[in-house]
Amino acid sequence: MSGLTLTIDAPRWRHHLDTVMQAGPGVVPVAKGNGYGLGLPRLASEAERLGAEYLAVGIPTEVDDVREHFSKDFVVLTPWRPENSTAVESARDPRVISTISRMVDLEVIANLGGGRPRIVAEVLTSMKRHGMNAQDLQAVLATEEFVQFEGWTIHLPILDKGRYAEALRLAKQALELKRAPLWMSHLTQEEANRLAGETGVPVRLRMGTKLWLGAPDTLQTTATVIDLHKVRRGERIGYRQRAMPSNGWIVVMAGGTSNGLGLEAPTAAKSPRARAISVATGSLEAAGLALSPYTIAGKKRWFAEPPHMQSSLVFLPERVTPPQVGDAVPVQVRLTTATVDETIETD
Ligand SMILES: *Cc1c(COP(=O)(O)O)cnc(C)c1O
Repeated sequence: MSGLTLTIDAPRWRHHLDTVMQAGPGVVPVAKGNGYGLGLPRLASEAERLGAEYLAVGIPTEVDDVREHFSKDFVVLTPWRPENSTAVESARDPRVISTISRMVDLEVIANLGGGRPRIVAEVLTSMKRHGMNAQDLQAVLATEEFVQFEGWTIHLPILDKGRYAEALRLAKQALELKRAPLWMSHLTQEEANRLAGETGVPVRLRMGTKLWLGAPDTLQTTATVIDLHKVRRGERIGYRQRAMPSNGWIVVMAGGTSNGLGLEAPTAAKSPRARAISVATGSLEAAGLALSPYTIAGKKRWFAEPPHMQSSLVFLPERVTPPQVGDAVPVQVRLTTATVDETIETD
């Protein structure tokens, strides 16, 4: 074990994935970006093991990262654009379904020639991110001779209130134009099953976070101690030569900005009163330090300075017994923004 390590409790993680998959309706696993910290190939292999019919990717180039690990079809979530040469190429790929969110794009993709591109048409929701209004959706059907229409896609805000009502309203509007599968995002599985029941068409629920990261206690991140130094109060350390607030230790931890650490704003003292107290007690926060994601001897410890690219300097007060070089300590990372150095599956 070295660097920033993600340890997957594989039997329990897979049990969670199986449970989510079985709760339906047609779960479409999403593998995009950093692969939710787990990596795109791993997610694609799991989707294959789960027997998923489709795998959703974020952008056209990601199809190449997952293609050899998943044997069925891919759906690209980011709307298709004619300027994107990879998107244009993948429109000719019989295994790829493109998302169309504007009439101008539909006209281009319908006229590419060389087969009928597979498309889903995106319905504009209250997200106001991508999608077509009711009038344009009607026009989609006029192009059916030139494209294979695979359904309607509806991407809802994450907010709970009014979400199901909006889903049902937009779905009904679209289904009045044409009965076809509904590709949904951010409904609960219960809501998606209900929508399938109420509309009578197949509902395909795209899921990323709640699928891959929905059982957080099966995913543990740790970092190794790569060096250790004793420091005195007032001694200057690091790139910034900051004075240490008291006697203690500098623990050099694996993990830094290239792993996605330290991207969040440091937690500041909340109220002026709380700030006054931390100044009065000479806390590290008052000394301008920020809380790190590393837990050493049962507590989150303070960064001695902002994280470096692949390591971080953490301050440990004198009274705490320091870990040894080579030890692994828990580190809290947000897996949707993290890049780990190593992933281990336990059995
Ligand atoms: C990323 C994405 C998802 C998956 O989002 P999670 O919150 O990770 O489940 C679903 N639908 C669309 C359109 C997306 O872009």
